[in-house]
Amino acid sequence: MTTTQTGLPLFVLGQGADPHSERGVDCPGELPPASDPALVERARRAKAALGDRLFVLGHHYQRDEVIQFADVTGDSFKLAREAAARPEAEYIVFCGVHFMAESADILTSDTQKVVLPDLAAGCSMADMATFDQVEEAWEALEDAGIADTVVPITYMNSSADIKAFCGRHGGAVCTSSNARRALEWAFEQGEKVLFLPDQHLGRNTAVLELGLSLDDCVVYNPHRPNGGLTEQQLRDAKMILWRGHCSVHGRFTAACVDEVRARIPGVNVLVHPECRHEVVLKADHIGSTEYIIKTLEQAPAGSSWAVGTELNLVKRLAARFPDKDVSFLDRTVCYCSTMNRIDLPHLVMSLESLAAGRVVNQITVDPDTTHWAKVALDRMLALP
Ligand code: SF4
Repeated sequence: MTTTQTGLPLFVLGQGADPHSERGVDCPGELPPASDPALVERARRAKAALGDRLFVLGHHYQRDEVIQFADVTGDSFKLAREAAARPEAEYIVFCGVHFMAESADILTSDTQKVVLPDLAAGCSMADMATFDQVEEAWEALEDAGIADTVVPITYMNSSADIKAFCGRHGGAVCTSSNARRALEWAFEQGEKVLFLPDQHLGRNTAVLELGLSLDDCVVYNPHRPNGGLTEQQLRDAKMILWRGHCSVHGRFTAACVDEVRARIPGVNVLVHPECRHEVVLKADHIGSTEYIIKTLEQAPAGSSWAVGTELNLVKRLAARFPDKDVSFLDRTVCYCSTMNRIDLPHLVMSLESLAAGRVVNQITVDPDTTHWAKVALDRMLALP
């Protein structure tokens, strides 16, 4: 429990035994209720006290109670660039998950401090590719005699270590908006791609946008010797997909699409490319979070949409477009539990601490990792 300026207790994860501090960690199938309205006033006051010294970033998957305090909302890469464009902001409070705060630290100046309101807000996908595992995979590629022909590409949703690994080995970062261009670039540099850590984005882009076949793709399982693959399989593959996935988007199934089409006649199915290949094949529209938002903005009144992405965003879009029927692709899939760790108590704790001159939960990336991760990010920015 943290005692604050006003003397009221803030129950924050990892600092007390109150079960309410764990709101959003389990998955009851609906969004958790908003926090105490008094906290809204405290967050406002702390934010006003910090003025231009503070810049708050809010990822699209954040709760409403948090997003209302964001100076800008967006996907992870847009937010990191927004932070870099605000050199006057001494403190960047990133309402998102750990890898996003790392990217913001990489792209901002040394004098800016990046704060993640809850250090437990990780990302299950990013955690599926550790530096040691990826080094081991690279050794397997060397043993198969193909490492020189492989270009590593990592999705933005990966740790700074993995981005730096790609920078060191001639590779780049990609987002869900530019994955196609990143893969085209990679195949100009080499013969094969090691795609980290999201197998679904890699497969969907390679097959649906580059015209590769499923047989051109193999899945490297870091928990099995040699990734569970023979050297010949590695040599024959064009796309070596890391066995990682998003636990939110990975739960939509082809049956969800069938069910929603039967339930809502004429419905348009709109999904994120982190969804499984069989789901994407059945969908009408596929694209990044920004694409999903733009598609719904431009959709005609009266149209029906089933959206396969994170629940907080879908609910917010449904409220924003009352003239359109916007529903969640699956009634049982939950929101991103790690994104939901950032709640109003954690935000208030961060803001009040900063206002009192204490920097809490700062995210820093070491200089060598920063250098090589930036090399990989700069290669992405230079994509045609
Ligand atoms: S939605 Fe998926 S990829 Fe995004 S933070 Fe959550 S687990 Fe990670």
